[in-house]
Amino acid sequence: MTELLICTGNPGKVAELKAILPASFKLIMLADVGLPADLPETGTTLEENALQKARFAFERTRMTCIADDTGLEVTALHGAPGVYSARYAGGSKDPKANMNKVLEKLQDVPDRSARFRTVMALISKEGEHTFVGEVAGSITESPRGTLGFGYDPIFLPEMSDLTFAELDPKQKNAISHRGNAVWKLVRFLQEQGR
Ligand code: IMP
Repeated sequence: MTELLICTGNPGKVAELKAILPASFKLIMLADVGLPADLPETGTTLEENALQKARFAFERTRMTCIADDTGLEVTALHGAPGVYSARYAGGSKDPKANMNKVLEKLQDVPDRSARFRTVMALISKEGEHTFVGEVAGSITESPRGTLGFGYDPIFLPEMSDLTFAELDPKQKNAISHRGNAVWKLVRFLQEQGR
């Protein structure tokens, strides 16, 4: 059974990865190997941050590591908050404050289109790879729903009347940026016979 070290301490991401990844993988958490929940991410792109987190864990464990870095990219805000999504409204990483800042910036702005973009980094003794997943949608006028995490209550995926925080988690995972990136990663590992 292939062991994967999940390089995130974000409970929302952990729950989704557990639900998306096939049972043929044994998932190991950062706490299981004595690593901190918050790995360093000082890059200026999602790719750099995902690789930085996975490298940090790989160098210390030599295990197969996967790390996800995600950004909400709002067209009218020229792609912001993007790679700075976690700390958009300050260092406390408060999801409500982050959402309020996006909603304030979009007040009276007609173009509310946005997308989520995830880069999943995979690092093993075989080398480094990245997989990208995206989902297009728009920003609602106000938060809706209680499921999910982060910016989910204000993100309306394309062709849905429900925000990510109103959708059943299975439905979110079926269309989400993270689901998309993870399936590419799983296909890659399976093609390699892992
Ligand atoms: P990071 O990838 O951990 O740096 O997360 C960036 C920011 O995006 C954090 O504020 C997360 O809460 C948020 N975020 C990451 N993934 C999702 C998602 O699937 N839905 C909503 N917000 C997310």
